[in-house]
Amino acid sequence: LFIDGIPYLIVNIVTVIGVTTMMLLINWKLAIAAIILLPLLSVFSYLLTPKLWSLYGKRHRSSRSLYGQINDNLTGARVVKAFGQEKSEQTRFARYNQNMRTAELKIVNVDNQIYALYAVFQNIAQFIVWGLGSFFVLQGTGMEYGTLITFVGYITMLNGPLDNFSYMFRWWINCMNSAQRIFEIIDAVPDVTEPINPVKMDRVKGSVELKNVTFAYEKGKPVLKDISLKVEAGQMLGVVGHSGAGKSTLVNLISRLYDPDEGEVLIDGVNVRDMSFQDLRRSIAMVSQETYIFMGTVAENIAYSNPSATRDEIVAAAVAASAHDFICKMPDGYDTVIGASGRSLSGGERQRVSIARAILANPRILILDEATAAVDTETEQSIQRSLERLIQGRTTISVAHRLSTLKNADHLVVIEDGRVTERGTHSELLRQKGTYFKLAQLQSKALAMRGVGD
Ligand code: ADP
Repeated sequence: LFIDGIPYLIVNIVTVIGVTTMMLLINWKLAIAAIILLPLLSVFSYLLTPKLWSLYGKRHRSSRSLYGQINDNLTGARVVKAFGQEKSEQTRFARYNQNMRTAELKIVNVDNQIYALYAVFQNIAQFIVWGLGSFFVLQGTGMEYGTLITFVGYITMLNGPLDNFSYMFRWWINCMNSAQRIFEIIDAVPDVTEPINPVKMDRVKGSVELKNVTFAYEKGKPVLKDISLKVEAGQMLGVVGHSGAGKSTLVNLISRLYDPDEGEVLIDGVNVRDMSFQDLRRSIAMVSQETYIFMGTVAENIAYSNPSATRDEIVAAAVAASAHDFICKMPDGYDTVIGASGRSLSGGERQRVSIARAILANPRILILDEATAAVDTETEQSIQRSLERLIQGRTTISVAHRLSTLKNADHLVVIEDGRVTERGTHSELLRQKGTYFKLAQLQSKALAMRGVGD
């Protein structure tokens, strides 16, 4: 709007002012008669604004739903096909498409009304000029026929600018409607903000402590309730629990993706709220089930956590993550471009790239959130070996579904319904014969059935 529209608008406003001045100079009575309807046109336009605004809003919402649906369908195409849901997805698409069509047609309807309004105004103005002008000429009021023709020429010059005003008016509303939604995002204030005067932390040792932490995503529905736990620097804490118990939420609070509602998260005794983002991010690395592979070379993907890393450091990290072998088999080795969202890598390979990334980040605190949940048992074992190397000498907080991966943990906590219900070492928890014991039994039975020893 500002680049393509405003310059023309300015030119047209100047034209209207110029033409009107000329008309007033030639014959002020005829000039006033010609533009008398202009205020009326402005009032009509003003009255149509709320309607047009709401229609543009509706169209934006329906197009958002439609694009959302298309995106879901394209990314989930395999699932849709596997479950033979093409027909029902088409029906859903048709519904959103129909909504979009209806919204678009309504806008076109009002658009045309506005266009017609401006066109009618132009014709009436011409009609008045011809009628009144002829009357003046015939009455012999001193106005000559040549003056009338000049006048008509001027009034025709207003047609272009008026067409432009009607177009600009609709364009303006459409753009402001979009801008409002963009500003809602730009103006959103992040919940987690960096302190103005962060505590200086040159070297983080890596002890992590949660003190009476309570947290809810939605008010009144706490996901974590009064959690307290401590991991000494260099130790490993295993977090176990049923899915939905709040394990991922717990680790998200440590890396300060969210702030707790009550209680505090401390690293080396300093509240994470008082740490600079730079210190915090440098100290913590996370390997989770969700791996983020962006479009770029394998080397760039590994160096994501440390863009200044040399090729040797990248290769060393890949070797430690057991990723070197499969990378070397790729057509361009470390310079192979891995596609958008990393499609060309298998789940296990993506996981190893993300472990290499964490190794290169060389953090004091490592968070493993179901890092091996998405891969098969064989791949898991090889990833597990890479993880064991990664864990050396760091504080590790590991959320794992398979308890066998947590055997080496110095401490374990069981989280149930947002509370720590059991804590201790692997053997202590087995002796307690509580939830941990039950989970362990269930898993060894399941593994035995699949013929895999634990
Ligand atoms: P776990 O990792 O133990 O499976 P989570 O920490 O992911 O559990 O989730 C705990 C609870 O919080 C679940 O009931 C889940 O539905 C809810 N939850 C998780 N993430 C969000 C979110 N971003 N917004 C709202 N609720 C969430």
